[in-house]
Amino acid sequence: MIPGARLILLGRQGAGKGTQCVRLSRHFVVPHISTGDMLRAAVREGTELGRVAKLVMDDGGLVGDEIMVGIVRDRLNQHDAKGRGYILDGFPRTVPQAQALDEITAERPIDIVLDLDVPRELVLARLTSRRVCRDCGTNYVAGGDEKHPWICEVCGGDVMHRDDDTPEAIEHRLDLYEQQTSPLIEYYQRQNRLAVIDGVATPDAVFARLTRAVDLTRRSG
Ligand SMILES: [Zn+2]
Repeated sequence: MIPGARLILLGRQGAGKGTQCVRLSRHFVVPHISTGDMLRAAVREGTELGRVAKLVMDDGGLVGDEIMVGIVRDRLNQHDAKGRGYILDGFPRTVPQAQALDEITAERPIDIVLDLDVPRELVLARLTSRRVCRDCGTNYVAGGDEKHPWICEVCGGDVMHRDDDTPEAIEHRLDLYEQQTSPLIEYYQRQNRLAVIDGVATPDAVFARLTRAVDLTRRSG
């Protein structure tokens, strides 16, 4: 049996991170821990955390380090993550979060940080043609020859253009990501814990590159 893994996946929105997280999660039999999904779920369920998160996000802000670190600490302490490991997606976002994560994982350190690299122009093109099912969240790519209304193959819901997928909004999110993540990438690079994976290839080829990087880290111990 394949051993578990403790991984962080970084990458621009539209780099294919979601798809690869699902595949890595199946391959290593570990949970895919997406802090974005956890926050959205908390907002939906109206928990205390959800109410705080909604206030911040409605304001266009990012949920503070302290709250995020608390959420991740609790999740990593659960049985599945403690046992086989996890794939962290959306966290850390800042160097203070990364430092806090190092403390949380002091006993069982992260194997490697994977940076799924797809050039900005390419993700911009991908995101502009992205369509999303309103009900189940499945992503589609618009080719211009779709039937209207466009019905989701998975659940029968309406496939729509997201309001926040305008070129301006996408550029803004990519700028934010760049600003936040470049110090983080430097942080992990300095410590020799970062593998940059070329994400411009078929999903199968990218997946093979990611798993190879994890295997190499383990062999070098
Ligand atoms: Zn659907």
